[in-house]
Order: sequence, then structure tokens, then C-alpha cells
Amino acid sequence: MIIEAVHYETYRPVRIEIAGGYITGITELSAERGDGLLAAPALIDNQINGYRGVDFSGDDLTVEKVSQAAEAIISDGVTTFMPTLITNSHENLVRNFKILASALKDPFLKETIPGFHLEGPYISTEDGFYGCHPVKYIRKPSWVEFLEYLEAAEGNIIQVTLSPETEGAIEFIARCTENKIITAIGHSNAPAGVIDLAVRKGARLSTHLGNGCANMIHRHNNPLWAQLANDLLTPTLIADGHHLLPEEIKVFYKVKGAQNLILTSDVNHLIGMPAGNYSYLGSEVVYTEDGLIKNPKMNCLAGASMPLKKGVETVMKCTGCTLGEAIDMASKNVAYIYNLSDRGTLTPGKRADIILFELKDYQLNIKKTFLKGRLVYQV
Ligand SMILES: [Zn+2]
Repeated sequence: MIIEAVHYETYRPVRIEIAGGYITGITELSAERGDGLLAAPALIDNQINGYRGVDFSGDDLTVEKVSQAAEAIISDGVTTFMPTLITNSHENLVRNFKILASALKDPFLKETIPGFHLEGPYISTEDGFYGCHPVKYIRKPSWVEFLEYLEAAEGNIIQVTLSPETEGAIEFIARCTENKIITAIGHSNAPAGVIDLAVRKGARLSTHLGNGCANMIHRHNNPLWAQLANDLLTPTLIADGHHLLPEEIKVFYKVKGAQNLILTSDVNHLIGMPAGNYSYLGSEVVYTEDGLIKNPKMNCLAGASMPLKKGVETVMKCTGCTLGEAIDMASKNVAYIYNLSDRGTLTPGKRADIILFELKDYQLNIKKTFLKGRLVYQV
């Protein structure tokens, strides 16, 4: 099979050869052929809480619903994603990890889901830092309890987001590192020393840096400076136009560099649903036409609703970075962190997970998506 398109990094026309689901060759063409669409690696999203009506944390989750969500996610150019469960009751977490693990018996879902992300319940209970996580279920890290989740998930939890300042968190991070589970700092008000200690024990990511943070923080001693200053931490950013200001995105980009940033959607099940009032995580939330999900009572955002490609568009607009850099923040950089060595770039030997799209006025319009060389979405 052959795809002819314009390469997302070089803007040169190329022929991509595919066999057995993998890219076998890429050659530059002397002239553009075909419809002039751009080709890039399909996107990888490390934090998806739900999609188009399916809530991965919902009490009504089923294997069929996971499958439905995956189909919708693929239509937005994402062929690899990590379903994310957030702070919840013990019973809910055990039950839903079991369902997610059963979903992986489906070969299509196994190809798209490399593992799961647990955000919470081991996070800060300080006002503003826990965001919209239900505070009644927040608890101290417990390796014994976590092993129950890992067993329910059949070993497929590949990331935990937690606050390193909570009692027992540093040992917990060390245990995760020993077990090759990525730990991320998030919903945290940890002082610099604790952040450095967490990194020494293996923490590698800052989950949605700039969010999961109180509105009023100390101008010197706050978790943002310490995480930005640590060279071993890669921040994930929700660049959806609501969660971060353009100048924040620009500063994060300048400090960390294009190779050390990850874009994430952190979307919940309201993405693709009609605007209106909804009940989410036990609170009333307002979902507006422009994609903002707000909890008016707590005066905070209650999740995101923009697909990952919106992050690619926003980061280009805010930083002036190239399309290649922006796409890599949502593919190559993510694959690198999770050691997904078979995907994330357009190079021979990688899975033929490819998006074809046009880019107009910072709008990335996806026309076709291929998963292991199979056309899985077309406009
Ligand atoms: Zn969060």
C-alpha cells in the first residue's frame, strides 16, 4: 500500500510505503501528487476520561461503551490513547479497571490502548488543588490498595498521577518506578524539595501543568516554579484555549523546549455532546457552546472538551513553533515517555498510524486516519 502526501516536517511531497501494518519506506517525490494533504503520525493522548457520552469513570461503563468511545476518539486523529480513571470510591475503581482490562481482549482496542492512567485518588486535599476531583474519595497513597487496582486492570495501569507531598507518596513513587509504572506530579502543592525528591525516586511528568492548582499561590514558593525548573520533568499541557493563557503556553515552551512538552486533551465524556447543564462527579456543571465545562459552585473548570488536535493548533498559534514540533508534542514525545517504540513518528519500521489532513488558519482538518495501515476514519 502507498500513501502520497506532503510530509508534516519538511513540507516536501513524499511516498509512504506500507506493508503488514508498518511503514516500510519513505521517499521524497520530485513533484506533488494526489490531493496535497499533509501526512503526520497519528496522535497519542495520555489522558482521556471519556468521550462523546461515554464516561470511563461512570458506574454504567461497559466493554461496548469503551469500544464506542475508541471509535469516536479515532475520528479525531488519535489512534493511541490511555483511558483515565480519576479519584473515586474503591469499588468504582476496581470495577472500572476490570471492565477496561476486559476491553483489551478486543484486538482493535488492544491496538489503540497501551494501558491506563490513574489520576488520583492520592492527591492534595487543599482547596483549589484537587480541582473537580470528589474530595470525599481522596486518600493517602497505599501500595496495598493500588495492587488491587493493578490486579483488576490485569497489570495494565501504566501511569499514576499523584501529589508527592501526601504521606507515603515518595515511597509509593519509588514502588511504581520499580514496577515500571510512570508517575506524574499533579493536583499538588508540593514544595520544591519534595518535588525534587519525587523526581529522584522516578517521577517524570507534570500532569496538566498550570491546572489542578489553586487560583492564589505564593509568588516564590509554589509548585509551578519547582516543576518548571526541574530538567527531568516533562509537563503535559491542556492547550484547549480555556485551561492555559497563551503567555503561559509560550513560557512553558520556552523553558522546556519542544522536545520536552506533551500535549494532552484531558477530555471527559461531554466532548461532542450538546451544550447545556450536566451532572458530573456529583456536582452540577455548565457546558457552554465554546467548549468550556465549568463548576459554578466551586468556580473551577470541570474537565476539558476539546480533542487533542486543538492542542496542536493552539500551541502553534501561541508559540510560533512549527507544525512538526506541535505534532511531535502529541505523538513522538508521548511515545518516547511510554516507551512505545513502535509508533510516534513517520519512519520506516514504525506502525503505519497516520493522519492525512489540511491545515488552514491554524485549523487542522483531519481527512483520513490509518491505524496499522488500515483506513479507520475518512471524512
Ligand atoms: Zn487533573
